[in-house]
Amino acid sequence: MGLFDRFFAKSATAVLHITSPNGFHLRPAAVFSAEAKKFAASIEAETRGQSIDAKNLNALLSLNLEKGDHFDLVCKGKDAEKALESLTAVFEKLMESDEAAENIDKATHAYEGSAFHGDIIAQGIAIAPFWRYSERHSQEANGTDFHTALANTADILEREYKANKTRPEGTIFLAQRSLLETLSQDVQTIEAFESAINSAIAALEGGAMASKITDYRDLLGHVKNAMGYKTQVAWPASPFILLADDLLPSQVEQLPKTLEGVVLQKSSLASHTAILLRASGIPSLIVRDPVDAMQKPVILDGFAGVLVPNPTLHDFETAEHLLAQNRNQNKAQHTRRFDAATTTSGRKIKVLANVTDPASAKAAKEAGAEGIGLLRTEFLFQEKKPTFQEQTEAYKAIFSLFDDITVRTLDVGGDKALPYINLPKEPNPFLGIRGVRLFESHPDLIAEQLKAIFTAAEGKELKVMFPMVDSVESFTKAKAFAKEVADNENIDISAIAFGMMVEVPSVLFLLPEFNEVVDFYSIGTNDLNQYLYAIERTHPTLSLDPRSEALFRAIEKVASEAKKPVSICGELAGDGDATARLVNAGITTLSVSPGLVAQTKERIRHV
Ligand code: PEP
Ligand code: MG
Repeated sequence: MGLFDRFFAKSATAVLHITSPNGFHLRPAAVFSAEAKKFAASIEAETRGQSIDAKNLNALLSLNLEKGDHFDLVCKGKDAEKALESLTAVFEKLMESDEAAENIDKATHAYEGSAFHGDIIAQGIAIAPFWRYSERHSQEANGTDFHTALANTADILEREYKANKTRPEGTIFLAQRSLLETLSQDVQTIEAFESAINSAIAALEGGAMASKITDYRDLLGHVKNAMGYKTQVAWPASPFILLADDLLPSQVEQLPKTLEGVVLQKSSLASHTAILLRASGIPSLIVRDPVDAMQKPVILDGFAGVLVPNPTLHDFETAEHLLAQNRNQNKAQHTRRFDAATTTSGRKIKVLANVTDPASAKAAKEAGAEGIGLLRTEFLFQEKKPTFQEQTEAYKAIFSLFDDITVRTLDVGGDKALPYINLPKEPNPFLGIRGVRLFESHPDLIAEQLKAIFTAAEGKELKVMFPMVDSVESFTKAKAFAKEVADNENIDISAIAFGMMVEVPSVLFLLPEFNEVVDFYSIGTNDLNQYLYAIERTHPTLSLDPRSEALFRAIEKVASEAKKPVSICGELAGDGDATARLVNAGITTLSVSPGLVAQTKERIRHV
């Protein structure tokens, strides 16, 4: 903005109060600064005599705003009022939806040896000697220049975000990527980048946002790593409990199999390291007292939240007993994974798996799945278009594993793009060319897929399902198209049943008509929920309740009005807190990710 414009610029101000128990931390601040960047206006956050550019994520974080603090949001420029209105709304939503790190209740304990009390990151028992974290750095770069290393790091974070998008911890990678962008602006060398990171860390030290310092260190580590400056850690080859001041979020994924537990001394429950450790299920504590890393076994009790550095014989017996009990619970579930899941009243519920390729189908078999309730074929198409031969082989490998298999035809569009097919750029892709609508826009691609599926079926019974069906006509047209493909290729498909996903709300009101034409239904709760509430399932700030009341009622309506078999294949099917209500609604088939099969069966046995 020029001097003249600035003088006459419209200005709009609001006071924003931090109400989240976690303060205005990295993830909400990343969403907020991204929103601010959408406006031409200059946007500043002013507090305690400081004024910073709110489009700069690092500057926002350096304000160290915690619960109870407030700041003035000052927008100046042509779209100042619009910016203020939008940012105020986004901010309020962010504060409302940001939940405090869950405080896990501590069990009582009866250890005889003295115990250090800590905060529980993740429950569980570990008995092993300590190993104090140490690392070695290589000094040699591999020739990758700084800017390429930055681009590679941004790509890695983007990939991590995409891979973890459906998990709450996925947004950590998105926030780290925005931070990387902010910190590398106008920076030309790794030395300048390191110095920007160090100044940012200095601004956070001792403040409310100190728990995010590891994210900054992580970014520096990523970029250096991409340039070839490796960090080497010689992890012990025998079981150990890791003792460290803190870990970087990215290190959690690289922890070795010999690791039994983690004790961090300078971390916090709100750190991204803690969030990722909890998600990984490794027994972990934060213990602030000075601890000696001795060579003898110690006890980490992640149920009672204590560390016993000098256990007595009796303490070992107690911990071993707890460990066995814990293992037995998981083991019992694991041992019974191939058994049928029958409710207490004797109703048998089928538990199938959602898979994407031959490897995940094999994993599903090993996990105890009784079939495949959803084969998401789009994953076979991801990098490059598979040939007809490649498709047929992949389907054959999968079909040979189970008798009960539901294949879904290509479901791209919305948030799922394919690099090699032209989908129109649409303002609302979730409401555009998606799923079964590709039968009209890309008939050759779909015809080849159907031919490969029919060829691989080799006359065996199979269910073929169409995604995003919104009207009876869209189903009958898709089925007629499939029949035409079979006729043209002279393939007998009399053993193939044709059904549909229930994921567009219009279907809920047309069930009597659908009953006349479909062979089965499978409820896609992920999309059905997003369309019921008009909230994109990937929306960064609006939160969609995965167990929403409207979703349950929609399922109950389908279960009572459908005259053909109904299963559920969206995420709700594997949500242990929903199992009882789904089963009581009359659902008899649940299709879940392979890792949830044993657990889902166990839940059903208690309904
Ligand atoms: C769903 O929408 O619930 C579903 C299972 O399909 P996807 O998540 O692949 O869109
Ligand atoms: Mg869907």
